[in-house]
Amino acid sequence: MKENDKIIKVLAYDGKVSIICAKTTNLVEEARKIHDLTPTTTAVLGRVLTMASIMGSELKNKEDNITIQIDGKGPVGKIVVVSNNNAKVKGYMQNPLVELPLNNLGKIDVGGAVGRNGYINIIKDIGLKDPYIGITPIVSGEIAEDFTKYFADSEQKPTAIALGVLVNKDGTKSSGGYRLNLMPDATEDIITKLEENINKAGSISSMLSENLSLEDIAKKVTGDNNLVIVENNIEPQYECDCSKEKFEKGLISLGKRELENIIKEDDKIETVCQFCNKKYVFNKKYIEELLKEMRD
Ligand SMILES: [Zn+2]
Repeated sequence: MKENDKIIKVLAYDGKVSIICAKTTNLVEEARKIHDLTPTTTAVLGRVLTMASIMGSELKNKEDNITIQIDGKGPVGKIVVVSNNNAKVKGYMQNPLVELPLNNLGKIDVGGAVGRNGYINIIKDIGLKDPYIGITPIVSGEIAEDFTKYFADSEQKPTAIALGVLVNKDGTKSSGGYRLNLMPDATEDIITKLEENINKAGSISSMLSENLSLEDIAKKVTGDNNLVIVENNIEPQYECDCSKEKFEKGLISLGKRELENIIKEDDKIETVCQFCNKKYVFNKKYIEELLKEMRD
């Protein structure tokens, strides 16, 4: 049986450094199947889904969610990813069938696919009147670097992020990431140790494909063997919460006139969920009933 995906939260150096580590191989493979992704777009969407699951795992309440929108004007087009507070994620991109040649480092060209000419928007809905919105320009399109800048600029948090997806035409071999935060009392000495160990550790996707546990990975990237595990039972998953009711609300929001016009021309309305490709069909009779309940 395949090992479940997992997120762990850990403190290192007596609480002066906090780390969230995620293994997301199964959920990225699920996304690949749903959207028929190529190796390039699996790497792109996989990295964003992993980042979203890490950020989602920090939300406090059940109704909280976070939406990441990326538009770098590259060939994949717009990317949208959502996570709830339990790291249940979903996402899509405009052009999932894009496949690019490897870049000059012999790696999947995530930056080239995403593009470097645009912005990342982060929308956190945590039950306040207005959601929190953070905007940051894209640096490289490689995602981890872009989010490092986001955390530095918008949240004033010194952060190190790694995201990686190992994929070939047969599917996702491994996927995951980590985000490491420095607390205000982290010393220069600790920062130097972290830099050395992050460099030595190698890529997150290769550590995962060597079957290192998330705890082992956290030890390796921090160089601290006395970690305190804060949480280790979060299971990120690809999960869409769409329903016929939600799409019905969308139809109602079009307004009575517009709905009447559509149903004059067609005998049914078909909607497809962009996140999971599920199709919802509303026949003429259903729409007529809906129209009766709507005000002019
Ligand atoms: Zn759906």
